[in-house]
Amino acid sequence: MTEQLRIPGPTPLPDRVVRAMSRPMVDHRGGEFAAVHREVSAGVREVFGTETADVLIVTSSGTGAMESAVANLVSPGDRVIVGTCGVFGDRFADINAAYGAEVTRLSVDWGQPIEEAVLAETLAANPDAKVVFLTHNETSTGLTNHIAKLARVVRDAGRLLVVDAISSASSMDLQMDAWDLDVVLSGSQKGWMSPPGIAFAAVGPRAWEFVERSRSPRFYFDWKSHRTWAEKGFTPSTPAVSTLFAVQEGIRMLREEGLANAFARHRRIADATAAGLFAAGLTLLAREGYRSATVTAAVVPDGIEVEALRKLMRSRHGVIIAGGRGQAKISERIVRVGHLGAIDEGDLVQVLWALEQALEELDHAPADGRTLAAAQPILAGASETVAAH
Ligand SMILES: *Cc1c(COP(=O)(O)O)cnc(C)c1O
Repeated sequence: MTEQLRIPGPTPLPDRVVRAMSRPMVDHRGGEFAAVHREVSAGVREVFGTETADVLIVTSSGTGAMESAVANLVSPGDRVIVGTCGVFGDRFADINAAYGAEVTRLSVDWGQPIEEAVLAETLAANPDAKVVFLTHNETSTGLTNHIAKLARVVRDAGRLLVVDAISSASSMDLQMDAWDLDVVLSGSQKGWMSPPGIAFAAVGPRAWEFVERSRSPRFYFDWKSHRTWAEKGFTPSTPAVSTLFAVQEGIRMLREEGLANAFARHRRIADATAAGLFAAGLTLLAREGYRSATVTAAVVPDGIEVEALRKLMRSRHGVIIAGGRGQAKISERIVRVGHLGAIDEGDLVQVLWALEQALEELDHAPADGRTLAAAQPILAGASETVAAH
């Protein structure tokens, strides 16, 4: 049985990507590498919606890109504001604290978004906080913040905005320039259809002024040295070359599909997932209107153990979904279905079918096709794609 990986990263690898990674190794200071670096940088620029920012390619997990942002922008003793609605917002706060920043956490209940009014109040109450950190898509709760609106609030208050777009970029609309975002981060193993190992940081003009002033120690993650090398098509130290081959192929696939089509596919599959889980008796965690296009989190019915459900789905039906992360009282009661990257309508049908079977096996409800019946009309919207480019 081929197992189906439906967790919110790492995501499944298309055959084309796997083949791209089996290319022979190249000199990471040679012309072949520079061509790959340039093509990937241009692709990231397009996906992020920026012409003004510098795209830096970092060899690390997404967390490394987050740490690089703190190390390059914040000095010990600086006050920062971190909006947190789940595990990854908390991580940004923890990294800032580790670098000696004074952290004001704007925390909201899990499943709830950061709202503009609350952010505006927090900014007003902390006039000394020059940098704001926000999560675009909170992977632990399946929630997407309305980042364009939040960015306007930050801009109106004259602060710098860093956005963790690790599980949103390439799967949902992101407009770094039009939305006035100063720094945007992502990672290869989410929507980019690649293995872990490469992260991106796009750094806008205002952010570079902060880099000049920041006194935090940094070496591996020094953005200025990354920029200097990137201008020549290289990285300061040996990068994860094979993962970069994968990212190059993943970006080519995104271009062939057309970004707008890829975004629509993710939205459609997310809506179908939500409808299916709801029909199966689960309760969606994220507030309506903020539900993520890349990951759906839902509370399992009373009497069902998350681990028993996940185990059955995997052992009997070959479908791997994620459990919760962080805060025990919520995380122990939720499952998370990842539907980002190389995923199509049929993949989701398999998830819902396996869920319904497993719930019957756990004596919760008969497998009478209710989840698929709820999802089917939404998935059927699949034909409404627009021509690429
Ligand atoms: C996955 C993820 C991260 C962390 O990325 P790693 O590659 O695991 O370090 C950070 N933020 C968000 C929103 C994520 O989804």
